[in-house]
Amino acid sequence: MKQAGAVAEAMTEKCVFCKIMGGEKYQPVIYHDGLCTAFMDINQPNPYHVLIVPNSHAEDIYALSADEASAIFQLSARLSHAIRRVTNCPGLNVLSNNGRVAGQTVFHFHLHLMPRFQGDRLRLAAGLMGRKYPKTDAELERMTSNLKDQLAKSE
Ligand code: 5GP
Ligand code: ZN
Repeated sequence: MKQAGAVAEAMTEKCVFCKIMGGEKYQPVIYHDGLCTAFMDINQPNPYHVLIVPNSHAEDIYALSADEASAIFQLSARLSHAIRRVTNCPGLNVLSNNGRVAGQTVFHFHLHLMPRFQGDRLRLAAGLMGRKYPKTDAELERMTSNLKDQLAKSE
């Protein structure tokens, strides 16, 4: 048991969000329950850029429990309303980077809530639009059924 604890500690040693959860790093908290916590991102390209994280260390979306995923995504909807009421933002991005290749820099899962304003010039989704893949209906059907099959397997 002692060793397992030591290993867990070593694994989370450098995780800044675990430090916040453990009170080792100062961070005012917007919301906290048994599963997840919301606080301001240290970087504020737009004001009220918020993060929602699971309380327990989970590296990315693949490591989340179903309960954590539910709690985090439900909170994202509630907090989006709160952010809009506070900022009057006409739009808001909800996004999560998973894996270094996807731009993840803190390896403790988090959802970003980013209020958007006319002319703010943030380019969070650059590169998503204008791609022409898949090219055929058959390809689209194949991709759709691949994911349907995988979902059915995990039911
Ligand atoms: P990622 O790049 O992994 O999607 O997002 C990591 C986010 O964590 C970044 O937006 C970054 O500003 C934020 N972040 C990094 N260190 C800290 C910190 O110590 N406190 C807070 N509140 N946010 C942090
Ligand atoms: Zn962590």
